[in-house]
Amino acid sequence: MAKVFKFGGASVKDAQGVRNLERIVRMAGSDDLMVVVSAMGKTTNALERVVDYCAAGQEDKALTQWVDIFDYHVAIMKELGLQPGVDIRLQGEIPYDPTLPYDENYDQVVSMGELLSTQIIAVYLLKQGLSVEWWNMPKLLRTDETWREARVDDAVSREVIRAGWERPNRPSVVVAQGFIGGTADGKRTTLGREGSDYTAALLANYLDAESVTIWKDVPGILNADPRIEPDTVLIPSLRYQDAVELSYSGAQVIHPKTIRPLENKQIPLFVKPFGNPTAAGSRIAADGIGPIDVPVYIWRKNQILITMRAKDFAFVLEESLSEIFDIIQRNRLKVSLIQSSAVTISVCVDNTRFVPAALEALQVHFNVTYNDGLSLLTIRGTTPEIIDRAKAGRTIMLSQTTRRTARLVVKDNA
Ligand code: ASP
Ligand code: MG
Repeated sequence: MAKVFKFGGASVKDAQGVRNLERIVRMAGSDDLMVVVSAMGKTTNALERVVDYCAAGQEDKALTQWVDIFDYHVAIMKELGLQPGVDIRLQGEIPYDPTLPYDENYDQVVSMGELLSTQIIAVYLLKQGLSVEWWNMPKLLRTDETWREARVDDAVSREVIRAGWERPNRPSVVVAQGFIGGTADGKRTTLGREGSDYTAALLANYLDAESVTIWKDVPGILNADPRIEPDTVLIPSLRYQDAVELSYSGAQVIHPKTIRPLENKQIPLFVKPFGNPTAAGSRIAADGIGPIDVPVYIWRKNQILITMRAKDFAFVLEESLSEIFDIIQRNRLKVSLIQSSAVTISVCVDNTRFVPAALEALQVHFNVTYNDGLSLLTIRGTTPEIIDRAKAGRTIMLSQTTRRTARLVVKDNA
């Protein structure tokens, strides 16, 4: 039965990470191992800058950034004993076409990160004597043309991927890109930032895998971010539904879309530490233990709180909502919290570089004010004492509490 492993960018950010991946793959000792890999380190962010420079007509800057990205990969290849240009063909030109829309260009450029990382890893594993095959997901994972947030066509993808997987004499280990797919006419697409977990879940679903393991730089799923809270505990066992809630609240452990394809086939998901592969980590499954019995703190950083007030005071909530959410959707904003009153609607969203365009569109029909430099703290399994402690010494812009959950929009310390 197939096993799916997913390695994120932080796990393969350098040659040592790639060697550790090799060690984990060998330990698995499986003849049916699907290895899904993200772009190395912060490559996706760097590629986003390339697109932005191209779009702004700053070709020199775009090229400098592009070359930096290649230098970074070339250095890793050399450290791994690979020959750039021989073992791996490198794309010279930026795949940017000024006659095409921004979002379409984004997908062509940004997808290069995963194409590079997987080629390096596949060739490296092959040279270490493993039985390996590299898969080109833009040809296998079929999506529509919703650039930057492409929707996967399960029926087509499942058939193609199963056919590839079930071939006689397929090599034991398949190395595939997370996060990217392709359209029917051969254009590359991306599935939304941090989408590699989702790819791993889809592949597991198509292949009826026995499990998915996400290898991360944390011991498993913790009740809080260890960089923020001093006393974190590992949650060894969770139910799918609790994992979904955690990820929608902004816990960085797993991408929110990951759970559904696994739940549909009752495939367990393990989150394990990359640096300590024999540790148990966390297990998420239908028979997981729930609800989570410790308070869980989830910080969602870099938030902006946007408040809209109708210009003409003839405020009709329903009509305004559909217009507001249309604009939010078109600009791919990620909503983390909504609050409405008789005359205003406030939404808290991730403060991405797409926010200014959305603000401009909203200003056509609403008086818009906003506060940035905010974080959203969600506390699940809370008590009044815990909320008071969390509020102490902080400027709270807005709070929503129910019996078990508190959500606080907090001003970042200047
Ligand atoms: N490389 C992509 C990103 O950084 C996908 C992923 O890491 O899951 O967003
Ligand atoms: Mg990443």
